[in-house]
Amino acid sequence: MGEGIGGEGKSRSILIVGAGPVGLTAALELARRGFSPRIVDDGTGPTPLEESRALGVNARTLTLLSPSGVAERIIVAAQPIEQFRVRSAEKVLIQLDTRQLQGRFSAIRALSQGQTERLLLEALSSYGIEPEWRTAVMAEAISDFQRPEVTLRRADGTSETVRPDILIGADGAHSVVRKALGAGFPGEALEASFYLADFRYAGPVDTRFGEVSIFDPGMVARLPVSADIIRYISTLEDFERRIAHPSAVAERTWASQFRIHFRHVEPMAKGNVFLAGDAAHIHSPAGARGMNLGIEDACWLAWLIAEGREQEYSALRIPAVKQVLKQTYSLTRLVTMENPLAIAARNLFAPLFLRFGPARRTLLRSVAGYDTPRPPWIDWAE
Ligand SMILES: Cc1cc2nc3c(=O)[nH]c(=O)nc-3n(C[C@H](O)[C@H](O)[C@H](O)COP(=O)(O)OP(=O)(O)OC[C@H]3O[C@@H](n4cnc5c(N)ncnc54)[C@H](O)[C@@H]3O)c2cc1C
Repeated sequence: MGEGIGGEGKSRSILIVGAGPVGLTAALELARRGFSPRIVDDGTGPTPLEESRALGVNARTLTLLSPSGVAERIIVAAQPIEQFRVRSAEKVLIQLDTRQLQGRFSAIRALSQGQTERLLLEALSSYGIEPEWRTAVMAEAISDFQRPEVTLRRADGTSETVRPDILIGADGAHSVVRKALGAGFPGEALEASFYLADFRYAGPVDTRFGEVSIFDPGMVARLPVSADIIRYISTLEDFERRIAHPSAVAERTWASQFRIHFRHVEPMAKGNVFLAGDAAHIHSPAGARGMNLGIEDACWLAWLIAEGREQEYSALRIPAVKQVLKQTYSLTRLVTMENPLAIAARNLFAPLFLRFGPARRTLLRSVAGYDTPRPPWIDWAE
C-alpha cells in the first residue's frame, strides 16, 4: 500500500491491525463487498487449536457470517449446546433449554476460537487476501485522524510507513491503535483470578450442555470444547480436585489463569480510525459474548464503510456494547457473590424468576445474541 491513495468508494485503502476473529471478519466482510483491505498481525498465525479462548458462537454471529458462507461451515464443525444449568448445593437454580429458541439457528454452539479463525481465513483467502503475519504496528501517537499514519515493522527488521484512508484497530485488549488515539480504557477489574483447564477424555462424554456449579464461595463452570474435550473455569485455585470427571482423562490439553476486566472505550472511533472487538471492549466470559460482540462490531463497520456511513459507527455500537457489559457484569456477580444474605436471596429468587416464560425467553435471546439491534443488511428473519 505504501502511501494511502486517498479517493472514494471501493478504492479506499483500508488497513486492519490484528488478524484475530474480529480483524479477520472485518477483512472478509469488506472483501465480499469489493474492497481490498490489507490486514497485518504481529503473531505467527491463527490461535493454536488447543489454546482456545472463545468457545461460544451464538446465533447472531451465524446470521452475520451467513452471507460469506462461514456460518454453514461453523455449523458443521461446532458442537451444539442444548442446555445450560446453574447449580448451588445440588439444587438446580437455573435450567435453560436452548432448543426452545425459535428461528433459523440454535442459540449457541461451541467451537474453538482457533477453528473459527481458520474458517474465516479460508473464506478470506478465496478473495486473494492473506494476513501479513509477523508484522507489528508500532505504538505512536496518531495526530491526523483523517489520514492516520502508522509504521509497520516486520520480523525481518524492515519497516514501512503507511497512511491508509481507513485504519481499523482490531488488535485486542492491549490495542496499540487505541493507545495511539490517546483514548482511555476506563472500567474496573475483578479482584479474584479465574482459572481454566481443558481436559481430553479417553471415553465418551456428554458435550451437549454447559453447567455452573456454585460452591459459595467459588464456582466451577463446565463447557464443551469439542466432542472429547471439556473446559472447566473456576474462581478456586484448587478447582481441579472438585471436578467430577465424566470419563477417564486422556490429557489436560491446556491450562491458564486470567483476570476479568470490564472496560470499554468511548467513542469507538476518531476521524477515520475505528476500534473493534477487544480493542474497544472487554468483559467477563460469562455469557460467551466477547468474540461474538467483536464480530458484530466488524460486520457493522464493514457495512457502514460500504454505505459511506462509517462516521455513524460509534454511535450505533456504543449502546450494544454498554448493554452487553452490564449484562455480563450481572451474570458474573450472580455466580461469584460471597455475602450469605445475597446468596440466600439468589438461591430463592433465581428459580422463581425463571419460571416465567418471558424471563426465560429474554435470557435465551441474550444467549443467542439477539438482544442487540438486528443487522439491517440481512433481509431474512433470524
Ligand atoms: C478464558 C476466556 C474465555 C472466553 N470465552 C469466550 C466465549 O466463549 N465466547 C466469546 O465470544 N468470547 C470469549 N472470550 C473472549 C474472546 O477470546 C475475545 O473477545 C476475542 O478473542 C477478541 O477477538 P479480537 O479479534 O478482538 O482480539 P484478539 O483475539 O486478541 O486478536 C487481536 C490480534 O491482534 C494482534 N495484535 C496485537 N497487537 C498488534 C500490533 N501492535 N500489531 C499487529 N497485530 C497486533 C494479535 O496478535 C492478535 O492476533 C473469552 C476470553 C477468555 C480470556
